Amino acid sequence: MTKPSTPENGAPPGLQKHYPGDRIGVLLPLPLSGVYDYLVAENMTLVDGDFVTVPLGARRATGVVWGAGTGNVAQAKLKAAQGRLDCPPLPDVSRRFVDWVARYTLAQPGAVLKMAMSSPDALAPPKPVRAYVLNPDAPAFKKTKAREKVLQVMADDRPRLPKELALEAGTGTSVIKGLADAGVITPIALPARPDNLGTAPDWALAGPDLSPDQATAATVLEKRTEAAGFSVTLLDGVPGSGKTEVYFQAVAEALKQGGQVLVLLPEIALSAQWLTRFRQRFGALPGEWHSDLTAAQRRRTWRAVAGGDTQVIVGARSALFLPFPGLRLIVCDEEHDSSFKQEEGVIYNARDMAVVRAQLGGIPIVLASATPSLETVINADAGRYRLLHLPERHAGATLPEIGFIDMRKEKTPSQCWLSPSLREHLTATMEKGEQAMLFLNRRGYAPLTLCRTCGHRMQCPSCTAWLVEHRAGGRLLCHHCGFTAQPPRHCPECQKEDSFATCGPGVERLAEEVRDVFPHIRAEIAASDTLASPKAAAALIKRIEDHDIDLIIGTQIIAKGYHFPMLTLVGAVDADLGLGGGDLRAAERTYQLLYQVAGRAGRAERPGRVLLQTYMPEHPVMKALLDGDREGFLAAEAEGREQASMPPFGRLAALIVSGLNEAAVDDTALALGRAAPTGHGISVFGPAPAPFAMLRGKHRRRLLLKTDKECNLQAVIHEWLAQIPAQRKVRIQVDVDPYSFL
Ligand code: ADP
Ligand code: ZN
Repeated sequence: MTKPSTPENGAPPGLQKHYPGDRIGVLLPLPLSGVYDYLVAENMTLVDGDFVTVPLGARRATGVVWGAGTGNVAQAKLKAAQGRLDCPPLPDVSRRFVDWVARYTLAQPGAVLKMAMSSPDALAPPKPVRAYVLNPDAPAFKKTKAREKVLQVMADDRPRLPKELALEAGTGTSVIKGLADAGVITPIALPARPDNLGTAPDWALAGPDLSPDQATAATVLEKRTEAAGFSVTLLDGVPGSGKTEVYFQAVAEALKQGGQVLVLLPEIALSAQWLTRFRQRFGALPGEWHSDLTAAQRRRTWRAVAGGDTQVIVGARSALFLPFPGLRLIVCDEEHDSSFKQEEGVIYNARDMAVVRAQLGGIPIVLASATPSLETVINADAGRYRLLHLPERHAGATLPEIGFIDMRKEKTPSQCWLSPSLREHLTATMEKGEQAMLFLNRRGYAPLTLCRTCGHRMQCPSCTAWLVEHRAGGRLLCHHCGFTAQPPRHCPECQKEDSFATCGPGVERLAEEVRDVFPHIRAEIAASDTLASPKAAAALIKRIEDHDIDLIIGTQIIAKGYHFPMLTLVGAVDADLGLGGGDLRAAERTYQLLYQVAGRAGRAERPGRVLLQTYMPEHPVMKALLDGDREGFLAAEAEGREQASMPPFGRLAALIVSGLNEAAVDDTALALGRAAPTGHGISVFGPAPAPFAMLRGKHRRRLLLKTDKECNLQAVIHEWLAQIPAQRKVRIQVDVDPYSFL
């Protein structure tokens, strides 16, 4: 994305009050083009940001008061907003953020608002809780030791929750229930207390002694946090240099100032190590926000954030839309990570939008990475972002030595993926009692199953994609739509029996080879399907830390951020994997991924070694990794992009046309092609079938718009789309700053 331009419409409007009979705009969390007008009902005063219930056709909906309305509907026809919900109003900055994101991504504001209202339960007042007191007219009852203890605790007449009673009396809750059933104690309703959020993080606890480099960086971040005001700082440090410890100093400062803090992580479900470190530093856990929360956890967290009761949230990209009333600092860790890009619904890049959120809120943001994105590096070079550099690993740990294995020269047995050289290194590592990781960014057993007789490939019926064999689960699986099938006995094309061959390796197949060659190694697979829950992930991490596992066979999910002191060897089994295809960022991303994987090796006293199995040792990515020449690599990347006017030197947006009816999809795509904008510095490519010409049963065509950096891309797209008659059966998605070209 280009630099976050000016905050819209000048200064924030402030909290506007609306009185009975006033016209108000209400934004609903629905895919509508804008606000709907309503009236403020009698005996009600509303402010911007209030959550209200409004009639919508025959039903009722909950929305947010969004200014004075459009005036598009005659006053006499307006219906009244019916009720204000008992919950803090959506902060002004959150509303400006929703508008900004909607304008930038060309999404409907209601669709963006929906992300900010992601816990509908939280809008209702907290339910009263049931506590117990002694019944003064208790009937006779059977006495037991446990019951006596409970009654002793209750002698002070203070109402308590069953949980608390059980805890204080040292009994189970069944005892409490028995006493209640016997009428010895009576329930009373207590207003809900502020949700039990545990202890708050304590900024005053001492952090570790920082090295001089770390201290210099931490001081800058502390000062920027103390001063408040918008700023972007890139914390660029090699893996293991202590970036987390350094930005924790800024977190401490924000807490000291009484502010809230948001830390964005790319794989929040796998954040066990990060959470432990946070607790060590601040004596308490932060609030979490990600898709694995239960409805009750979401409700509690949303409300605690809205009420200012939770100070620190660590979350995935959607945490950006939480209603922080007093956000003081944002940290975006692993800022280069492409999982910050949301590809469904509202298509946005959380890293970029976090910068915008910081700007709208007038607060600092820290972007941390060992492999910052080209966009961010160029912003730092241009002086828009302040650069802080941590060039060394903490405590004298050395960076791993990176070497490659030229697969063209290795005599790797057929249907095997570990070269003789890599096998030797594995053996040596195991002999030293150390740990190793084999990295292969491919889930399952084999990416392709084909018939040896007729060449038929097992393909997903709904997607332009092969079915991936998952042998552990005994099925073929489409990684795009989730379609599963039993591996067939007969070829569906030529009917030949048992004629299937599996082509290429996934992590399961690699694990099979490891078991064959090294039967004594305790190996474990780490992939998104084997680490489905945060609990499963935390358990695996613990087993690695405890050295119950010698060898991790993992996809990118295990490549990021982890710190395993005994891990000294990393082998990238197919280092070339990400380089195919015409993706703008293929080289950059492969470099980042391999560098991150390499960063897992030798993080403590024992030096690490990284071996890249490649058929292209001369490729600039391999060269840069070998020579440790990140600057040279980025400079070459930047030059290539500048010559082609590609981001961040030019702007891109993709239009994806999709629908069940292929002819209708083609018609719309062609109409878009005919109406394509022209002009100086504007080019349009396509329409063309998307690489995934079919996905989840829908046909897909793509167009790509490329403009100068100065061009108002959003305005161009608006005008373009306005010329296309609305279609019911065909969807046009706009992806501003696309990361995926599929
Ligand atoms: P990065 O985020 O740059 O990869 P980390 O912050 O994870 O680095 O630090 C790597 C390891 O070194 C962690 O275990 C961390 O606790 C430790 N560490 C870093 N800095 C210090 C320090 N100043 N004192 C003690 N331990 C440190
Ligand atoms: Zn599919």
